[in-house]
Amino acid sequence: MTSQHILSLDEGTSSARAALYDHQGARVAIASHEFPSQYPQPGWVEQDAKEIWRLQVQSARDVLDGARVQPRGLAAVGITNQRETLVVWDRQTGEPIAPAIVWQCRRTSAACAALNASKDRDWIIERTGLVIDPYFTGTKLQWLLDHVPGARARGEAGDLLFGNIDTWLIWKLSGGRVHATDLTNASRTLLMNLATGEWDDDLLRVFNVPRAMLPRIARSSEVVGVTDGDLFGAEVPIAGVAGDQQAATAGQACFSPGMIKNTYGTGCFCLLHTGWNLVRSKNRLITTRAASTNSEAQYAIEGSVFVAGAAIQWLRDSLGILPAAPASQQMAESVTDSAGVYFVPAFVGLGAPHWDSEARGVISGLTRGATAAHIVRAALESIAFQSRELVDAQSADAGTPVKEMRVDGGAARNDFLMQFQADILDCRIVRPADTETTALGAAYLAGLAVGHWKSTEEIASFWRVERVFEPRIAASERARLYDGWLDAVARARSVRR
Ligand code: ADP
Repeated sequence: MTSQHILSLDEGTSSARAALYDHQGARVAIASHEFPSQYPQPGWVEQDAKEIWRLQVQSARDVLDGARVQPRGLAAVGITNQRETLVVWDRQTGEPIAPAIVWQCRRTSAACAALNASKDRDWIIERTGLVIDPYFTGTKLQWLLDHVPGARARGEAGDLLFGNIDTWLIWKLSGGRVHATDLTNASRTLLMNLATGEWDDDLLRVFNVPRAMLPRIARSSEVVGVTDGDLFGAEVPIAGVAGDQQAATAGQACFSPGMIKNTYGTGCFCLLHTGWNLVRSKNRLITTRAASTNSEAQYAIEGSVFVAGAAIQWLRDSLGILPAAPASQQMAESVTDSAGVYFVPAFVGLGAPHWDSEARGVISGLTRGATAAHIVRAALESIAFQSRELVDAQSADAGTPVKEMRVDGGAARNDFLMQFQADILDCRIVRPADTETTALGAAYLAGLAVGHWKSTEEIASFWRVERVFEPRIAASERARLYDGWLDAVARARSVRR
C-alpha cells in the first residue's frame, strides 16, 4: 500500500490538534482537544507538559480513526507548536521537573530589565535577532535552573533535557530516542546564533545554560527520527518541524522574499519573508529563521501583537457584551463608525514595535452616545491598527511598501475586520480557502522531506484564494483614523499603576 497521507500535529497554546492531508494538500480530517493553562501568580502562565502529550496523541488517534487511515498509510508526520514555551525533563524517567513555562509568562521581567540595562544588551540583540523580553525562552530556562532544587547540577551532569514543545513532542514520539529541535524554534530561545544556526557559547554563558541539556538543531524539513513502533503501530518518519508562525508562513506558500502573512488568533503574528537575507530590523521588530525547505538559511522579519482576538474573547467573557466571537462582525456593522471610540487592549503591555510591558488597556473617546456596538467595533479596529503598526515597521525595514498580505487565523474569518484592515493599511488583503495554515505548513515541510511532494512550486499550486479585500477609503480618512489610534496608544502607555 502506498503512503498517501501526511499527519500534522499542531500543538497550540490552548489546544492540541491533529490534521490529516492527502496528496493534493487537501485536509481530510481534523481533531482537537483543548487544555487549560494555570496562572499561579499574576503574570505567570504554566501548562502540564504530560497533559499536552496525552492530548496530542489522543488527537492523532482520533483523526486517524475518524478518517480510517492506518498509521502505515502515513508518509510522514509534521509537528508545529506554540513557540518559546519551555519543558525540562529527566533524561532517564521522562518526567518533567516542573510545569511548562508558557511563552506568555512574565516571571522573568526583572531579569530581562537587568539585561537590557547591561553592557551585554546590544550584542545579544545583534547575535539573536531578538529583543530581550520574557517572551523568549532563554531567561525562562535560567529561571527554572535557578529555582528548582538541584536542577543546575543535574543539567550540567547531562541528566536533564531542555526543549520547547516541538522537542518534547519529538522526544515522546520517538520513544525517547531523539532529542532535537528545528531552526525556527531554536531561533526563539535567545541561545542560538541567528546567522550560524548553532547554539552560541557566549549566549549560553550569559544565560548560564549547560550545553549538555540542549537538543540538536535540525532543519525544518528533514527526517529527524521515526515514531516509536509501539505508539501508533508503525514507524513513521518525523520529517517536518516548525514553530507555529513559521509553519503558517509555509502553509500560506510564502516561500519567497517580499511575501507577507498575518495570522489573526489570540495575538497577531505578521511575518515578512526576506529570503536568504538576514535583514536586521531598524524598527523594533525581530528577525527570525523562516522554515527553509533545503539547507539554505532563510529569514523573516516578524512582528507580534500580544492581544488581538483575545480582546474579542474579553468582550464576550468578561464584559458579556458579545454572545460569540463571530457575532462581533454583525455588531460592528450595525454602526457606521466607532463614534470616536478607541480600544487599546494592552492587557499584558504592548508587543512589537513598542515592547512596553508597563502599558495597560484603555478605552478612550467615550461619549454618552457610545454603545456596546461601538466598543465591539473599536475592538476589531484595534486588531487592524495594531497590525498596521507591524506592517509599517516591516515596510520601513524592507524599504518598500507592502501591497498585498495573506491572512489566516480565527479572526481572519471576520469580513468587517479584513475590510477595515485593507482600508487602514492601503493594501490588498488575500484570504485563502484553507485558513488552518499552521497545520498545513507542518504537513508541507514533512511531505517535502520525504519526497511526497517534489517542490515548493508544487505546494504553491495547491494554494487557493477564497476572497480578496481591496482598500476603499480615502487617504485623508485613513490618516484621520490612524492618528486617533496613535493618540489612544499614547494614553495606554501613560497609564500609571
Ligand atoms: P489561537 O490559535 O491563537 O488559539 P485561533 O486562530 O483559533 O486562535 O482564533 C481564535 C481567536 O480569534 C479568539 O481569540 C477569538 O476571539 C477570535 N475570533 C474567532 N473568530 C472570530 C471572528 N469571527 N471575529 C473576531 N474574532 C474572532
